[in-house]
Amino acid sequence: MKVIPYGKQSITQEDIDAVTAVLTSDYLTQGPVVPIFEKAVAQKVKVKHAVAVNSATSALHIACMAFDLGKGDILWTVPNTFVASANCARYCGADVDFVDIDPDTWNISIEKLKEKLCQAKQQNRLPKVLVPVHFAGQPTDEETIWELSKEYGFKVLEDASHAIGASHNDEPVGSCKWSHITVFSFHPVKIITTGEGGMAVTNDDELAERMAMLRTHGIIRDSALFKNNYEVIEPWYYEQQILGFNYRMTDISASLGVSQLARLDGYVQTRNSLANRYQSALADFPVQLPTVEKGNVSAYHLYLIRIKKNGAHTKTQHEVYNALKEKGILANVHYMPVHLHPYYRDLGFTDGQYPESERYSKDALTLPLYAALTHEQQDHVINTLKNIFKK
Ligand SMILES: *Cc1c(COP(=O)(O)O)cnc(C)c1O
Repeated sequence: MKVIPYGKQSITQEDIDAVTAVLTSDYLTQGPVVPIFEKAVAQKVKVKHAVAVNSATSALHIACMAFDLGKGDILWTVPNTFVASANCARYCGADVDFVDIDPDTWNISIEKLKEKLCQAKQQNRLPKVLVPVHFAGQPTDEETIWELSKEYGFKVLEDASHAIGASHNDEPVGSCKWSHITVFSFHPVKIITTGEGGMAVTNDDELAERMAMLRTHGIIRDSALFKNNYEVIEPWYYEQQILGFNYRMTDISASLGVSQLARLDGYVQTRNSLANRYQSALADFPVQLPTVEKGNVSAYHLYLIRIKKNGAHTKTQHEVYNALKEKGILANVHYMPVHLHPYYRDLGFTDGQYPESERYSKDALTLPLYAALTHEQQDHVINTLKNIFKK
């Protein structure tokens, strides 16, 4: 049997044809397809502006820059995420702090967020930006976070790397009804892919304009916005007004994105029905299963279980991981807490600071879940787990 990974892309003949069409066209980059992809995503998630870039990491970086995050400022996120959610602050010279997760949703704990904001206000150390992560594809409590952002004056930057196609109270993730900017990732393990790629979406005209400049060196070509006051503006003229980067997405990538986006709803449905199959099959296992909160549709980027203590029969995360691996099943752990990476320890973070995320990282296991996972493969995962927990 072939190895079953925890996640992987689905590529169809339409995808291959779309990419091939760009390869034989006039433009491989800075052509017409990136704006087409941006419009398609914006329409899909019901938002005004979309800025495509070469990764979600780049999108997080230019979003933080658009907020003017800098030295002396603080960004908060959760420890249970990929390091990029926190690193974006460090790129800007800002400090990072964390809010622990909820033991049931595995998303940011609203209770802990409220407590921490209250304390931070007294110490005059309020965050400038909060990065809530829609973990595994499940939206956070977006309305409450939005209310708190108004009360305490921080910006909300949703890391929706797991959650394109998800919705909260009938509002698609990315509509930015309850945030300033939302970021998506199109890495191959995510819901849809462009190879590498990401996007920042917003309803704010100024933030969108700034992010569009920042992704391409801080250069503008719109003569209405030029600052140099030359008498004659030559046709080849452009201006660099701020310090930006080359974070552009190629038209090759965007063409794959356009093609994949057309199948987004189907992918999310398939992921949900596979997740439901796991839910019923694993119901009697000594594990905690994921929950989906009322009002949420999860994109189910990841399917995780937490191994419960079960007396003398308790299996460790390590044992279950290895027993699965022996049968050709590559589980994973999402995530090792960000604050315990050596880079963050060097900044002063230490064990025991975020106990829920730390406990979680020691008993959670990510099982295979992707659109192309067959029922036969999934049954192999389920039966293997059955044998592991029986012993
Ligand atoms: C994948 C991921 C990122 C980074 O995405 P890239 O497109 O690989 O840069 C950021 N945050 C989270 C939560 C992710 O899962």
